[in-house]
Amino acid sequence: MKQFSYVRVTSGKAAISELSKDKTAMFLAGGTNLVDLMKSGVTNPERLVDITRVPLATIEATKTGLRIGALAKNTAVAEHPLVLKHFPLLSQALNAGASPQLRNMATVGGNMMQRTRCHYFYDTALPCNKRNPGSGCGAIGGFSRMHAIFGASDKCIAVHPSDMCVALTALDAVITVTGAKGERKISFGEFHRLPGDTPEIDNTLQRGELITAVDIPFNDALQQTHYLKVRDRASYAFALVSAGVALSLKGNNIADVRIAMGGVAHKPWRLKEAEAYLKGKPATEEHFREAARLTMAQAKAEEGNAYKLTLAPNTIVEALKLAAANGNI
Ligand code: SF4
Repeated sequence: MKQFSYVRVTSGKAAISELSKDKTAMFLAGGTNLVDLMKSGVTNPERLVDITRVPLATIEATKTGLRIGALAKNTAVAEHPLVLKHFPLLSQALNAGASPQLRNMATVGGNMMQRTRCHYFYDTALPCNKRNPGSGCGAIGGFSRMHAIFGASDKCIAVHPSDMCVALTALDAVITVTGAKGERKISFGEFHRLPGDTPEIDNTLQRGELITAVDIPFNDALQQTHYLKVRDRASYAFALVSAGVALSLKGNNIADVRIAMGGVAHKPWRLKEAEAYLKGKPATEEHFREAARLTMAQAKAEEGNAYKLTLAPNTIVEALKLAAANGNI
């Protein structure tokens, strides 16, 4: 690990000011991804601005929804009574991620900012356009078992690794960020980006901005939820494919539905076409299968991840069935 300077701050204003003093400076929160990136030489900030004592960990109801501070720990969010009551999908997704120890350290903002777990990205001896723009993509034509089937480019086929972000995308969350020019809002679906020609850019956060909170609008009709994560082992593994579903049923008819997927794209992948198809229809396997078929029309795979072309639609259908049948398990 390269040498770096360290400063601890206690306010958002000081955090932004300290970050501006070095163009390589980065915010340090839980450190559960950043420290790994620094140890392996992928990320080499010369200054770390420790924001763990900035008071941004509150979880509270507002008039229209739930506000979660960016420094709230993943465990605190997953176990919070208001999250369990109003947004069980978020709790399910958080508990599917990482391990209890990591969830105790990792923050909401850090979870959003975590980087892909593509093996080529973490090995500085190998080509990777995300780590070293213009060097090539080792995964294309290489080891691509974990990689994207939606929205990839000829520069990068990496996936975003978060489970929490899948739920927040499905739940229409809105992010608040603050910087030298003031505060702005970003809808969750527009925060992470597709790789295009610039895979080194993960998201739409601007240099110098600090994530301060995430707001989720109340929609208590969407109470039948299920987060289904398919992975190589039962814990402490990233998703091969995941699907988060929040359903509102009137009798057996789908009054409303939200669906998003993880492990399939450079960003959490919202299934708007499938949602539009399902609204107003009976909650039957036949309709779930058609919704999955519509989604998969955009899919494209490498040899190594071609199995996802079967696994992804099956995961969508199974998550919808479980949400419709039981809800909140
Ligand atoms: Fe790098 Fe993206 Fe290719 Fe992985 S998929 S090697 S992160 S450019």
